[in-house]
Amino acid sequence: MSTLVHSFAIRSLSRLLKFCICRGPLRSRGSPPLTILNSGPLCHTPKLAAPMVLGLLLSDLHRLFLHDQVYVIVQATVFLPISLVICVVEWSRGTRTKPQLSIAGDARDQHAARVAKISADVRSQAKDGGLFTSRPDRERISSRIMPPRKRTVDTSQLKNIIEVDTEKGVVYVEPRLRMVELSHYLLRQGYTVPCVPELDDLTVGGLLMGCGIESTSWKYGMFNEICNAYELVSCTGEVLHVTPESDKELFYTLPWSHGTHGILVAATLRIIPAKPFVKLELTHCADRDTLCEKLQNAVAAGDHEFVEGLAFNPKSAVVMKGSFEDAPKGDSPVLSLGRWYDRWFFKQVEELKNGQVYMRTDEYLHRHSKSIFWELSYLQPWGNTPLFRYLLGWVNPLNIALVKSYQPEFTMRYYCDVNVIQDYLVPITELKPMLDLGDEALGVYPIWLCPYLNKHHEVVSIHHPHSKDKDVMYIDVGYYGLPSVRGFDMKSALRRIEEWLMPRRGFVMLYALHTLNCEGLPWPRRDWCRTRLVWQGLGFGMCLPTRSSKP
Ligand SMILES: Cc1cc2nc3c(=O)[nH]c(=O)nc-3n(C[C@H](O)[C@H](O)[C@H](O)COP(=O)(O)OP(=O)(O)OC[C@H]3O[C@@H](n4cnc5c(N)ncnc54)[C@H](O)[C@@H]3O)c2cc1C
Repeated sequence: MSTLVHSFAIRSLSRLLKFCICRGPLRSRGSPPLTILNSGPLCHTPKLAAPMVLGLLLSDLHRLFLHDQVYVIVQATVFLPISLVICVVEWSRGTRTKPQLSIAGDARDQHAARVAKISADVRSQAKDGGLFTSRPDRERISSRIMPPRKRTVDTSQLKNIIEVDTEKGVVYVEPRLRMVELSHYLLRQGYTVPCVPELDDLTVGGLLMGCGIESTSWKYGMFNEICNAYELVSCTGEVLHVTPESDKELFYTLPWSHGTHGILVAATLRIIPAKPFVKLELTHCADRDTLCEKLQNAVAAGDHEFVEGLAFNPKSAVVMKGSFEDAPKGDSPVLSLGRWYDRWFFKQVEELKNGQVYMRTDEYLHRHSKSIFWELSYLQPWGNTPLFRYLLGWVNPLNIALVKSYQPEFTMRYYCDVNVIQDYLVPITELKPMLDLGDEALGVYPIWLCPYLNKHHEVVSIHHPHSKDKDVMYIDVGYYGLPSVRGFDMKSALRRIEEWLMPRRGFVMLYALHTLNCEGLPWPRRDWCRTRLVWQGLGFGMCLPTRSSKP
């Protein structure tokens, strides 16, 4: 019965769309979508215009016909109404505008009071066993379903910028501060942190205690590499100021520790001057060898700030190099993401020709937020169509936290079980075989390719993937979406990739799913096991992602 209903829904929807495209409002020349498509940055030759327009109108609607269409339909029908309601509520509360943080005159005193409260809370609860931060799962970017947590410490007030010191080139912040708040505040002063992981809702604490990578990471390393000092409440309630000089063991072991060493209550991050625009240089690649070569050349050249690649399919990818600029120059197009009807970033760069394009720095730094990379192309397969963008484009970006909290649990579980969200970190020299393996095991596209410098440190921590004796260029290969491999089995696919990663000193980001059974494994597998054992042995508990159904 449910299959019948679904196929009826799909057929009706596709008929309606065909009608709109062939006879409806979208057909008429000069309607807003066509006007936009035929002018400005997305201008193409007349020969290409017709297939282009059709492609853009259809956008990701083919996803409705995927083998996991139930997932798509459920998500899409659940997400859209929820997003609409949330948007209206946010507007009525005035919380949908750009965040305008300010620093209070007595910010340090207020921070000290908040830390004292947390310290007291930890002391009173620590003897009872594992403690967790109070951040609810719905607010986390990761959609994984975590085991319930009994004892939590309230960190909800730790969301402030405490001090910016431009002379020393640092900003002193609290851990629940979101990336979008930090970057907008600093850009107004002409600064940025050197590494701004793209999604608005990622937090300083999550990126330091977990990990974070961005298109400047080829130069600066992971997010934790821009941290000069941590302020931590230990499991005895003591407030520790951790720097490489005060305690290098602890300093280098905190990243990837996922809160097992204590509760982070503040961090001192480096800042660098920023300019209002970013100039992007796009190079399209028609095969995998060229893609790997261009990425390696881009990081070797070192004459720019940002490097990122997007692979749309095995035969089409784009490599983007970027640098700060004061203003757009010449007649290069300006790519916009800020207007409600603007197309998703990954779609725009896929259509653009080789050459230069400018973006506002704030829009560039958060370029993947509007479409949550390309997850939204599954959740709203029609989200990039002109009709939807002009009428309802303002509902995006979704407020992930609220959508998650209003979503029925069964759709979240279904999402976790069929949707791949994995970041694999491999030496950049292993990129081609990694992509080949990804095609065989997952078949997920687009793929995010973000080079990063995996640094060597004098303390080799068991958590954080340090390079052995010198800095080594790695690359984050990010798979987000539904697998297209026939007979896909999540567990065996992930295990196959992990087995391949081990001898190559590759890693899986810890927010993602892991399938390895550590027992009796030789090094380096044992390292992963030790990490897990240490997690279990410390005073603070942590939540590892678990599969909701089959083990
Ligand atoms: C769809 C998706 C897209 C992603 N995109 C990117 C990306 O573009 N760039 C990138 O770098 N990463 C990305 N990630 C990975 C992401 O960076 C990590 O999952 C990150 O750790 C999540 O940060 P969060 O702010 O949601 O933290 P949380 O998930 O809340 O926290 C991460 C870990 O840190 C611990 N923690 C948080 N705060 C504290 C604290 N105050 N004290 C002690 N422990 C604490 C938590 O307990 C948890 O174990 C993505 C993940 C997903 C699911």
